[in-house]
Amino acid sequence: MNGKEIDAIELKAELLVNGVTLEDPAIKGVGKKYKEQIHWLFEWDFERHDTGKIPDDFELPDGTIVQLRKHSKSPFDIKANKDALELLHEGKFVTEVKWLPRPEYYSDKTDDGTSMSKVAQIRGTDCLSICYMNYCGYFKTGDQCRFCNIVPTKMEKKGDVVSHKYVEQIGQTASAAFKDVAKHAVLTGGWLPDGKEIIQCIETINAIKKYTGGNNVPGCAITSAPVNESEIHDLHDSGIALLAFDLEIWDPKLFKEICPGKSKVIGREKWLAALVQAAEIHGQGKVAAGFVTGLEPKESFLEGAQYLAGKGVVPINFVWSPGPGSAYEGQKPPSAQWYLDLTTKLVDIWEDYGLGSYNASAPVWCYKCTNNTLYNDELRRRHSE
Ligand code: SF4
Repeated sequence: MNGKEIDAIELKAELLVNGVTLEDPAIKGVGKKYKEQIHWLFEWDFERHDTGKIPDDFELPDGTIVQLRKHSKSPFDIKANKDALELLHEGKFVTEVKWLPRPEYYSDKTDDGTSMSKVAQIRGTDCLSICYMNYCGYFKTGDQCRFCNIVPTKMEKKGDVVSHKYVEQIGQTASAAFKDVAKHAVLTGGWLPDGKEIIQCIETINAIKKYTGGNNVPGCAITSAPVNESEIHDLHDSGIALLAFDLEIWDPKLFKEICPGKSKVIGREKWLAALVQAAEIHGQGKVAAGFVTGLEPKESFLEGAQYLAGKGVVPINFVWSPGPGSAYEGQKPPSAQWYLDLTTKLVDIWEDYGLGSYNASAPVWCYKCTNNTLYNDELRRRHSE
């Protein structure tokens, strides 16, 4: 920072890699008027904290949405000043920020009396985030991805969410959320043996269609790579707009080390083959591969991004958070500049391969909801929404 004028995307990158501290008066109204943090999938904060009512994300003056990552050692601080919220860096004013309004459906209940805020949550302003099961079978054998904390988060945050959800609960919540603020959805969960993960995903999509009354779901289903072609057809036929099979790491040796479960059970070659096949079946630009960037050299990720884009698969990345309960808890992510450079090069690759407008053809993510990535902000910067 150092007094230098910075723009929103740079500030967002700094906030994601450094986190933020919060002063108590600043969080007044969170959980009532403003949307609270609910650990729908992972703990993205840098440290454990009481399940109090801290916000999930916040808005910069130009509308950029930033995931809130609590970190008591951060140089950034959010404090209240009369009716406004101020973001400070090392005690110096940077900008005003705003918490996001709490969705109305958070106060509703499903037919069986479950609070909808525990079933599916809103990321940013308009993305319904659905984790159909807060569990992953790789934790059973110690083969979980080394950056992942899905199971520790569930154990630590007991009661935050319903971890084993009935599809009826999800369908009813989706119906209420789409009538309220949701414009699109993301569906995911951990790996389950014997193809159960994909079956569960499709049953969830069917329940959403039943309760929202459509034949399609404007969202993205993120699953493990299917091992049978028939599963890709089943996902394609389900009516979901976008598919994603997150490889996480491109470098073959690091993939084995960082994602031992994915590597042993499915393997990199089958993963890549499924991505390419899915792009042929579901459509070029309608299949994504997510990566946790910051754990392998930038060049390695970009090499993978180039390869995948050439096959019609959209490479996407997340700004890594060394969250509590993961094997990498307490480590330090690369700098904001590292992520900004990577994002510029990633979006260049999308544009080279005609994937830069994939949001327009498959309206599943936008800068208003991708609070933990930078690529939609970069797209917005280039194309002014
Ligand atoms: S597959 Fe990896 S990232 Fe996904 S839930 Fe399991 S351990 Fe976590």
